[in-house]
Amino acid sequence: MIIFKSVLDISTFINRSKFKNQTIGFVPTMGALHDGHISLINESKKNNEITVCSIFVNPTQFNDKSDFEKYPTKQEDDIALLIDVGCDVLFLPTVGEVYPNNIPLHNYDIGSLETLLEGKYRSGHFQGVCQVMHRLLSIINPNNLYLGQKDYQQCMVIQRLIELANFTCKLIICATIRESSGLAMSSRNVRLNEKNKNAAVVIYESMLFIKENITNLPISKMEEIVSQKLLKNGFNRIDYVAICNSKTLENIAEFNTSIPSVVLIAAFINGVRLIDNMLIS
Ligand code: AMP
Repeated sequence: MIIFKSVLDISTFINRSKFKNQTIGFVPTMGALHDGHISLINESKKNNEITVCSIFVNPTQFNDKSDFEKYPTKQEDDIALLIDVGCDVLFLPTVGEVYPNNIPLHNYDIGSLETLLEGKYRSGHFQGVCQVMHRLLSIINPNNLYLGQKDYQQCMVIQRLIELANFTCKLIICATIRESSGLAMSSRNVRLNEKNKNAAVVIYESMLFIKENITNLPISKMEEIVSQKLLKNGFNRIDYVAICNSKTLENIAEFNTSIPSVVLIAAFINGVRLIDNMLIS
């Protein structure tokens, strides 16, 4: 695996690969890699001649300074994992490489995605996501971009960015990888103790409960039952339990099989914010 730290060096490599007509798959990450990330690398390897992974903890997408400061880093382990899985290129830039002084920072028109759900509870988060992805996609210029469904709204935002900035890459959304308990894998899980991890399974169970009861119970009732269940199991702050139209993320008042829907949950346990989602139809 080749590791690049400078934009100039990776750009030279990318230009050579493009000249040879090699397809490039790109997996952007913030490191502390787990099987969820590795599944994206494997998916890219299946369909591209070159797989590029980036590890960059992007400061501009953290609305909470302490979340940024506590974000786990495991560079040596990450490099070993990537070599093991056969990743071709790792881009490991500094903040100065991603955000040099002369780069213009845009305001991205992502519509209601900016104010709904994650947008509402993490002010400025998606502008930061767009900034970093605009820069990374401009540098890597991939044919295919691999993202996880785990960050459902982020996938929608990045699809919008691709359209706004006229990138030609195709977005491939990969399934959420879970622990055998059902807990979605996340870099933030390392900040949970065993008791928290066991309790956090209630998120997955709640989503299954909603999926199974969507035609039996009113939506507001299910949202209330699930919120109570989360609080009873050790979650101390719930940002949202929402059943939404999966194309627009608008709340659904009444379930209707003709509306594609998704349940999304964000809640804090032991100071760690967990998010998850499940498609209902
Ligand atoms: P992150 O390092 O958390 O920014 O995530 C990098 C990429 O990995 C994003 O596209 C995430 O959606 C994806 N990802 C994170 N966790 C999982 C998971 N459990 N299963 C599948 N993809 C994931």
